[in-house]
Amino acid sequence: MEKENILELRNVTKTFGEFAAVDSVDFALQAGEIHAILGENGAGKSTLMNLIYGLYQPSDGRIYVTDREGWRRRLRAKSPHDAIVNGIGMVHQHFMLIENLTVAENIALSLGQLKGKQKDRMEGWKNGRFWFKKEEAIRITQALSEQFGLTVDPTALVGALSVGLKQRVEILKALAVDARILILDEPTAVLSPQEVEGFFTILRNLQADGRAIIFISHKMKEVLSISDRITVLRRGKKVYLGQTGELTARELAREMIGEEINEVERSVGVGVPNSYENDPAGSVLQLENLTVLGSRDEISVSDVSMETRRGEIVGIAGVDGNGQRELAEAIMGLRHHASGTISILGANPKETKAVRQCGVGYIPEDRQTTGIIASFSVTENLLLNVTHLERTARWNILNETRKQETAEQLITDYDIRPPVADTPAAALSGGNQQKVILAREISLQPDLLIAVNPTRGLDVNAARYVHENLLAQRDREKSVLLISTELDEVLLLSDRLFVMSRGKLIEATAQRNDIEALGLLMTGETDTNLKT
Ligand code: ADP
Ligand code: MG
Repeated sequence: MEKENILELRNVTKTFGEFAAVDSVDFALQAGEIHAILGENGAGKSTLMNLIYGLYQPSDGRIYVTDREGWRRRLRAKSPHDAIVNGIGMVHQHFMLIENLTVAENIALSLGQLKGKQKDRMEGWKNGRFWFKKEEAIRITQALSEQFGLTVDPTALVGALSVGLKQRVEILKALAVDARILILDEPTAVLSPQEVEGFFTILRNLQADGRAIIFISHKMKEVLSISDRITVLRRGKKVYLGQTGELTARELAREMIGEEINEVERSVGVGVPNSYENDPAGSVLQLENLTVLGSRDEISVSDVSMETRRGEIVGIAGVDGNGQRELAEAIMGLRHHASGTISILGANPKETKAVRQCGVGYIPEDRQTTGIIASFSVTENLLLNVTHLERTARWNILNETRKQETAEQLITDYDIRPPVADTPAAALSGGNQQKVILAREISLQPDLLIAVNPTRGLDVNAARYVHENLLAQRDREKSVLLISTELDEVLLLSDRLFVMSRGKLIEATAQRNDIEALGLLMTGETDTNLKT
C-alpha cells in the first residue's frame, strides 16, 4: 500500500529577481520515512526547505501538510511559527541558539513558541517580568534526551558546548515542540566521521518513533546509508525521485551534475622521481613548537611542529574550528604567533608580503573577502601578486597581449563564468570568484601552496580540476599544504596525513585506511594519550 504523504509540494517555484532558485518542484514526504535531498552547492536545497519552514513564501505552487489533527490542508506559512504549529521543525546549517543560556533554557524558549497549554505550563509574565519553570524545562530536556539518545547536560551553557552537542540541542528544540517532520539541512557538515555514526543512530531512533525526516546532504555515501528515498535537485529543478538503492552512487552523481564524473587518479609517486627525497634542501615549511592565539585570545594552535617537503602534499584533516584557520593565517603572516618559529625555505618572513615573496601561494578559507578585489576586472584579479609574478621568469616577459591570453586561458581552464575577462569580479557569483582565486594562486606554481578548503562551494568538475592541479604541483616538486574538512579530499590527495583537533596536530599517515581511527583523532578522543 502507498504510504500517506504528510507533506506535499506541488509545482513550487521560488524566484529571486529573474533567477529561479527553486523551479517547479514536486516533492512528497511520506509518514515515517527518511527522505534525502541530494544536490550540489547551489542546487536549491536550502531554499526549498526555507519555503517549507515559512522563511520564504513560494512565488508559485502549493504546499500541503497533514496537520496535528490528521487533516490534510494547504500550508501557507508566513513564518517559522506557522510551520512549527503544523509540526514542522528545522535544524539549520547555522545554529540558532542563544549561547549564554543553558540547554534547558533554550528548550524552554522554544516551547514558548507554541501557544496554549504547553506554553502556559512553561512560562508567563508576572509583575512585568518574564519567568519560566526551570525544573520543568530540565525535566522535559532530560526525558527527550533519554528517549532518543540525544545525550546532553540540560544545565550546561550552550556557548560552552561542542558543535556536535549544539546540534543535539537544536534537534531537542524541535522535538520539544513535537515536530513530526524534521528538516535537517546538511547536519553532518559539522561532524567528524565518528560523530556521524552516532548521529545516524539518533535519526533511526526518531524514525522508529514515527517521525519523518528530510535529510539534506551533498555527500553520496551518507545519503545512501541513511535514507529510504532520494530526491535529487539540479539547478533548482527536481531531476530524480526514487527508492534508495535503485540507482548506484555513480548514477546518482550523474543526476546531480548532469554528466559523468571521474575522480582524479592519484598516482602514488608513480613515474615521478622526487629528487629531494632525503635531501635537506627538500624542506620547504618548518614549524617548531608553534602556538597561536585565536580571536578571543584562546589557544587555537597548540605547540605544533611539522615540516612540508618538496614533491609532497601534506594534508590536514579535521572538523571546522579546530585551529586550522589560525594555523594557515599564522603561516601567512596574517596572525601573530604567541611562541615558536615558522621558517619558509630558510627564511623567517613576518609579514604577508614577505611570505608571498618567499614563494608562497595561498587559497584562504574566507575567499570572498580576503582573496578578491571586487572592483578589479577578472583579468586584473587573475594577474594580481605582481611581486610574485616577477619572480617567475615565465611571467616576466608578459606583455599586454600575453596577459590577456593568459587570463583567457585561465578562464577557460577553470570554467569561470561568465567567460568575460573584463567583467568586474564583483559581478561574479561566489563560486566563480573562488575559481578566480584558485586559478591565480595555483597557476603561479608557488614553491609552497597553502590551500584551505580549496573545493568548498565548487561544482564537481571544477573540484576535480583543482585536485588535478594540486597533484601537478606535487609532481613539479613543489610543496602543498592542504587543509580541508572534506576527509575524502584529504585522503585522496595527501602523501602524508595529519589530523588537527583542538589545536593539536597529530600525524595520522599510518591510519589513513582506518576511518574509525581517523574519526577518533578528529573528535580529539586520543587527547588523553597525548597528555601523558
Ligand atoms: P543549496 O542549499 O542547494 O546549496 P541554495 O538553496 O542555498 O542552494 O541556493 C540556490 C541558489 O539560489 C543559489 O544560486 C543561491 O545563490 C540562490 N539564492 C539563495 N538564496 C537567495 C537569496 N535570498 N537571494 C538571491 N539568491 C539566492
Ligand atoms: Mg544549502
